Amino acid sequence: MFSKEKITIAYTIEKCEGCGIQKKRKFAEGDVLFSKISKCNSCDGDTVIDKIFGETIEQ
Ligand SMILES: [Zn+2]
Repeated sequence: MFSKEKITIAYTIEKCEGCGIQKKRKFAEGDVLFSKISKCNSCDGDTVIDKIFGETIEQ
């Protein structure tokens, strides 16, 4: 028998409110939707969490 294992990985999308740059990274504990993360490197605007989602992959 051969079985495939599916795992779900959570990702966080950070988005700059100033210039709209988006960055995808792995979800980290404490990430809350729409919370401010840091300053944008490009325009010094506020970077917020725009989306949190999970991707299922087969191993
Ligand atoms: Zn920016």
